[in-house]
Amino acid sequence: MKNRDEEKLYLDADARATQYVNTVGTRRVYPTQAQIEALKGFEEVLPNAPTDAHTMLAQLDTLGSPATAVSTGPHYLGYVIGGVLPAAAAADKLVSVWDQCASSHATSPVAAKLEAIAGRWVVDILDLPKGSAVGFGTSATACGLSCIAAARRTLLARQGWDLDEDGLVGAPEIKVVVSDKAHISLFKLLRVLGFGRGRMLIAPTDAHGAIDPDKLPPLDASTILCLQAGEVNTGAFDPFTPIIAKAKAAGAWVHVDGAFGLWARVTKTHHHLTEGIEGADSWTTDGHKWLNTPYDSAMAICKDADALAQAMNSSADYASAESHAQQNLSMEFSRRARGIPIWAVLKTLGRQGVSDMVERHCAQAQKLAAGIDGKNSIEVINTVVLNQVLCRMTDEESTADFTARMQASGKLWFGTTIWNGQPAFRLSVSNWRTTDADIERAISMLTDTK
Ligand SMILES: *Cc1c(COP(=O)(O)O)cnc(C)c1O
Repeated sequence: MKNRDEEKLYLDADARATQYVNTVGTRRVYPTQAQIEALKGFEEVLPNAPTDAHTMLAQLDTLGSPATAVSTGPHYLGYVIGGVLPAAAAADKLVSVWDQCASSHATSPVAAKLEAIAGRWVVDILDLPKGSAVGFGTSATACGLSCIAAARRTLLARQGWDLDEDGLVGAPEIKVVVSDKAHISLFKLLRVLGFGRGRMLIAPTDAHGAIDPDKLPPLDASTILCLQAGEVNTGAFDPFTPIIAKAKAAGAWVHVDGAFGLWARVTKTHHHLTEGIEGADSWTTDGHKWLNTPYDSAMAICKDADALAQAMNSSADYASAESHAQQNLSMEFSRRARGIPIWAVLKTLGRQGVSDMVERHCAQAQKLAAGIDGKNSIEVINTVVLNQVLCRMTDEESTADFTARMQASGKLWFGTTIWNGQPAFRLSVSNWRTTDADIERAISMLTDTK
């Protein structure tokens, strides 16, 4: 491809991207059935001959763009998806064309430098112990796996067991304690690591999904205790201070899943929810949810930097790297420089900007809850402590019907969940683009009895 052709192709992609971005506030939040059916246009046999790249882009845009869930727009309140800040998406474009393998200094000096800085900034803004290692991974799932692997390896080493050499056969048993409201991905990663569901010790929770410290299963020096900052339905936080004190006295390892909730720590208004969390040993959080970086982006943070670097070590004869190089801190050996969009957000928003965004979303969630509770048969079930509003209608059927009707409108999107055995729907405010006016609009849609 000649330089000029390459330039034209990027300009074409940029023009289409700009056009998409310009319409995210006005296009349907979720595609129509017809737009989804039009995806059949992609069902072709694998071409033998090359296709012109502009033709490919045109098809991608014409069929693909209308079939997106417009989660990057202001009216999407589903899951805890978050949007993408322009600064982060723009930095990520450069990351794409740089195509750096962010394994080590040798593979990319710029990625190694910026990810080291991003890691320090993340530890700083989240007020976690100085010197903690930060591995940039694809997801809170993958990063949680890295942290728990480091936890198990460390607890075994303290008992004189060399996990790297001898594996798990015959090893002393390491127990895990998890909340009965832990995120499904935590159960998955524990399963993948070989912790059977039937052997996990389950910590009972209160009505909002926070662990009850008085009902905590027994802890000892062979236990990994998994806590949660931000339950995915209610936004509840486990009471860290009393629980972590107990765990530390017992010699247990404490891991915190803070996929979105950890960002509350940046604010003045919600910092108290995370009090004591700094006493844990490891934490995971996502960039792609509340920090509004592009997918896929998450962080494994470990107070004992060597524990993570040794558990995830992948130095090879042909690819030896600094001990704390990224290839030794996350699941991936080769990967894109996903720490750079995180750096870009922290650089452009600053501490204050991140705090403002998180506080604004929490205030908007309050406003949303107050505006709909008791109207149009909606009941807000949770105490809104963060950015999540959990609701139900008078019965199961109307909850499902109402959610389906709102989704079909294409003007607002949110999903259903099950809370304590009952169907519910869930509104999450986590997109930088959502304004107070968008919240007013959502309230009037949700409470419109027509
Ligand atoms: C989303 C989420 C996860 C999983 O994060 P991924 O990045 O999707 O793997 C884990 N825990 C909580 C509380 C979450 O909200």
